[in-house]
Amino acid sequence: MSNLPHISNWVDGTHAAAASDRLVVINPADESPIATVDATPHATVDEIVSKSLVTFKEGPWSRAEASDRFAVLVKAASLLRARIPEFVELEVRQTGRPIREMRAQLARIPEWLEYFAGLARVQEGAVTPFKGPVVNTLVRLPLGVVAQITPWNHPLLISMKKIGAALAAGNVVIVKPSELAPLSILKLGALFKEAGLPDGTLQIISGYGRDTGKFLCENSHLSKIDITGGLATYKAIASVASQNMIPITAELGGKAPVCIFPSMDVQQAVKASLFASFIASGQTCVTGSRLLVHMEIYDDFVNLLQKRTKALRIGAPTDPKTQIGAVINKAAVERCTAFVSQAVEEGGKILCGGKAVTVTGKGFFFEPTIIETSSTSHLSCNEVFGPVIAVIRCKDEEEIINIANGTSFALGASIWTRDFTQAHRVSQKIDAGIVWINGHHLNDPSSPWGGFKESGIGKENGREAYESYTRVKSTVYNYGIMPEWFDDEAENARYG
Ligand code: NAD
Repeated sequence: MSNLPHISNWVDGTHAAAASDRLVVINPADESPIATVDATPHATVDEIVSKSLVTFKEGPWSRAEASDRFAVLVKAASLLRARIPEFVELEVRQTGRPIREMRAQLARIPEWLEYFAGLARVQEGAVTPFKGPVVNTLVRLPLGVVAQITPWNHPLLISMKKIGAALAAGNVVIVKPSELAPLSILKLGALFKEAGLPDGTLQIISGYGRDTGKFLCENSHLSKIDITGGLATYKAIASVASQNMIPITAELGGKAPVCIFPSMDVQQAVKASLFASFIASGQTCVTGSRLLVHMEIYDDFVNLLQKRTKALRIGAPTDPKTQIGAVINKAAVERCTAFVSQAVEEGGKILCGGKAVTVTGKGFFFEPTIIETSSTSHLSCNEVFGPVIAVIRCKDEEEIINIANGTSFALGASIWTRDFTQAHRVSQKIDAGIVWINGHHLNDPSSPWGGFKESGIGKENGREAYESYTRVKSTVYNYGIMPEWFDDEAENARYG
């Protein structure tokens, strides 16, 4: 291990001295160690929060002109755009996702910085109606020191959504990336510094969630916690944050239905389902993990789906021809295997896939798997976070809607139909934060992203995300003469 490169925390504009405890980041495609990072201890976390608080109070970022924040973020976007290949390589190695996916995803990430830079630049206050000779001006101010806890599946995309919004609004940001894929994020510090971000404004600290993440979220000096991860993680964080009155934005799990109606051409429906289900080996929060197919086209759909799923190329993530890469670790393989076994015990029928495979004799891979099952099975109701997909025969539109709404999640859903009226009708009845019509996974910096029910609280993207990193302050001006309140003769002594 001592020969491995070490990437230490990014603190106060430089890589800090390495911590004595380290963790190893593994390439899930071949189990080779890539690098070590700090397992940041409690005292260091608290020290970084304290320093960050001083940086927030003293500026310069928290007091910078919007035009200056705009310039820095736009410059960071252009630096990132120039270095996409370098970041793609790192993302592929640490996540095991195919290079063609990561090229497509990373090419768009600079847009998030540009979008939030734009919002900061055009942000306007308001003057609210008031009775009497009174004017209330509203301004949006940054919150303070904010913590961002991010997952491993889209390391850069998710971090940049959060970092972009928080920095644009003038906050000091502490990011704690996933212990499984922290490398690309640790490299961002230098890029932002080069773009002109003042030292200490973006702090990036690595470590296990149960230690470093927990220590960070327990700190009462934070002004917000923004977490993307699992429900159990959210609950652990929220129970402490609530004691400290720290607001939380939470992007959590999902069980996205793919609702397929008979007007849809079968070829198109299968193409859509493969895209919805198997991007990132099913390891996205909006994976189309339940295919709800109208009985009129069910048999044709399933026949073609089996054929096309079997033909997907599993392989080394670095090979541009690879369509299905690795899953993140051994635990993911075991979880997929357990879901398959339970689905079969409950009467489910494996239509294709169903087991772990290897590509080079090492690494964590799982076959793209389709299981015909009931809408109430364990597989149909719980998040796998892997390439194990339920397909359910549905008798009509009403049943599709009921099943779509029948889990504790409500993040994403897609509707596939050529009937415009039906698309509109069904979209209104589906309870989810994001409903796509004849699309899936579509994402844009301006398009609010977030779920209902157990899928989360609040939004990433859009004005909502930007505003959630601000607090509104009213300044109320009386431009009249203050009436005498303690004058017995005075009527209407009070206005406003
Ligand atoms: P996870 O909950 O295991 O970890 C997420 C982050 O939380 C990591 O950085 C981890 O170190 C940290 N963490 C864990 N325990 C913590 C604690 N007690 N205190 C503070 N931090 C802690 O999730 P994961 O495996 O990295 O990601 C998978 C989950 O994320 C899935 O449920 C998936 O659906 C969800 N997700 C949601 C979205 C979305 O936009 N809604 C996007 C991607 C992933």
